[in-house]
Amino acid sequence: MTAVHTVAIAGSGAAALAAAIQLAKAGIAVDVFEAKAEVSALGSGITLQGNALRIFDALGVWDEIREAGYVFSGLHLRAPGPGAPVVAQLPDVNSGGPDYPAAMGMPRPELARILLVHAESLGVNVRFGARVTGLAQSDAGVEVFVDDESAGTYDLLIGADGLNSTVRDLIGIETKPESTGMGIWRSFVSRPAEVERSELYYGGPVYIAGYTPTGDDSMYAFLVEKAQDRVGISDAEAAQIMLDESRAYDGPWNSIRADLAAGAPANYTWFTKHIVPAPWNRGRVVIIGDAAHSCPPTIAQGAAQALEDAFVLSELLVTRDELDAGLWDEFHARRLPRAQAVVEASTQLGQWQIDGDRDADAGGLIFGIAQKMAAPA
Ligand SMILES: Cc1cc2nc3c(=O)[nH]c(=O)nc-3n(C[C@H](O)[C@H](O)[C@H](O)COP(=O)(O)OP(=O)(O)OC[C@H]3O[C@@H](n4cnc5c(N)ncnc54)[C@H](O)[C@@H]3O)c2cc1C
Repeated sequence: MTAVHTVAIAGSGAAALAAAIQLAKAGIAVDVFEAKAEVSALGSGITLQGNALRIFDALGVWDEIREAGYVFSGLHLRAPGPGAPVVAQLPDVNSGGPDYPAAMGMPRPELARILLVHAESLGVNVRFGARVTGLAQSDAGVEVFVDDESAGTYDLLIGADGLNSTVRDLIGIETKPESTGMGIWRSFVSRPAEVERSELYYGGPVYIAGYTPTGDDSMYAFLVEKAQDRVGISDAEAAQIMLDESRAYDGPWNSIRADLAAGAPANYTWFTKHIVPAPWNRGRVVIIGDAAHSCPPTIAQGAAQALEDAFVLSELLVTRDELDAGLWDEFHARRLPRAQAVVEASTQLGQWQIDGDRDADAGGLIFGIAQKMAAPA
């Protein structure tokens, strides 16, 4: 027996597809509704920490993920100015335990494609161009409306529909993401051979400059600045801003600037933070991933936390007989304190940058969170 037999999922990001995969493996019928017309082919890179890699292994996609990305160890800090000298080499904390590398980078579209192919191979029915717009609950089930038409009645609806979650609104949860005061420019560029791990530059004209390798030939580069209204900016202006704001950084940034000058697109987004207090469910509807919590990527844990939500929820759904208060209590007990610790630490790290607090123990905070993550969720 399982607690549910039919599940609808809003969204097709990491949280949605991880849940879909685990539920389908247990024989549960899963329909995924994704508002976008197709799987993302564009996008930057993502850093995946060990605790995310451990979950990919459980999903059955770890080998493919490793193949499609760039595994690395350690973190280097460099200084602005000529030669971009390395000023610190920070050791690894294997947040997925000893069986997985500390971290890796990969192109976001590759991650999306691997999860989608795996979910569909297990029988998950994925509909693109299908926006969840409404729901109606009873004791017997939840009727899900897609583009204002009934798509059927399910035992459970999982709202894995991201930061601006419609499902969160539909169940009356008012907590919403708020700006942390920082914005980030990102560009997907070629990898100079000397870049073999994530490197961060503190000091200079922006809060943080950095890059992370995502493959033999690729990496993503970023500049974190004070959040500004960048709405309506043209592609050429965006690239020019990254060029201008990165001039203080030498070394691999020369190669990044060459790519930007040759047309590598730059995109901008604000950092947000929020955590929905328990419960994350209302009856037969639950939110997970960015719908439930968000944080600045200062320790690159957002996707890992989304995956952990999906993993713990699906484990409970397939091992319990009833969708009852006991199931939800255990879900919240296992997920909320952990997600909250990540949101608080990630936000604190950003705030220390904004405040210019040079004495803050950033290394200690990062180390503490990584150790916490090393115990499975
Ligand atoms: C600048 C930046 C950098 C980041 N870097 C990292 C990093 O390096 N490492 C890391 O771990 N995390 C990082 N994160 C966080 C990470 O991207 C997110 O935490 C993670 O992608 C959340 O996954 P999700 O599945 O919850 O949501 P999403 O990936 O946002 O998926 C939600 C999906 O729902 C769909 N959708 C929305 N509304 C509806 C609807 N009504 N009906 C149907 N579908 C709908 C959307 O189209 C989308 O496909 C970063 C975040 C930002 C902003």
